Amino acid sequence: MNFVFPEQPTVSLPIVGSDQRFPIRRVYCVGRNYVEHAQEMGFTGREPPFFFLKPADAVVPAGIGQAISIPYPSLTKNLHHEVELVVAIGTGGKNIAAADAVKHVFGYAVGLDMTRRDLQGEAKKTGRPWEIGKAFDHSAPIGPITPIAKSGAITAGEIQLTVNGKTTQKSDVAKLIWSVNEIIEHLSAAWELQAGDIIMTGTPEGVAAVVSGDTMVASCVGCQGLTVRVS
Ligand code: MN
Repeated sequence: MNFVFPEQPTVSLPIVGSDQRFPIRRVYCVGRNYVEHAQEMGFTGREPPFFFLKPADAVVPAGIGQAISIPYPSLTKNLHHEVELVVAIGTGGKNIAAADAVKHVFGYAVGLDMTRRDLQGEAKKTGRPWEIGKAFDHSAPIGPITPIAKSGAITAGEIQLTVNGKTTQKSDVAKLIWSVNEIIEHLSAAWELQAGDIIMTGTPEGVAAVVSGDTMVASCVGCQGLTVRVS
């Protein structure tokens, strides 16, 4: 291909137990998918799922057992962490029924939906898009993918985040308002999913601000841990 300038490299995640990597196509995110988090954001916690996206190159991949760092982003004074179960799609499809959804899952990881909360809040107030609050550079640090063959389908178990050793978020993925299977059903009705898509499934309560120098450690049942320093 004769490109006018060099093409960007594909962003990819390591796979536990493999020397192959998972190339990322799209990053779908689910909003307000735990009741207590919806409530802390001022909502009832009972509404149909809704989605937003981050660009694939917002992903900051962590190697297996490797800590990573992200820069404190521009324009914000209120950078929030959101720990989330990340689902990696291995087989695409549209109008996938929840009952068939697990066949489309390649594996799982834990990730952080980093959020410029002040800018997201302004966007909400003014009815503007969320991208400036959600889809900025380095806004999606994600750990290695554990294949579903190793983890089994993840439907319950602890999800947690510590900041500088102190627990800020702690819940159970069984508390997802919309389960992974239901998310795949809803998403694939709106977009045709393809191999390489990943889904950040929403965060539990306890979102809070981090500052330069903080270290976040994310964990989720069935997944490799993720350590992220804010530089
Ligand atoms: Mn989120």
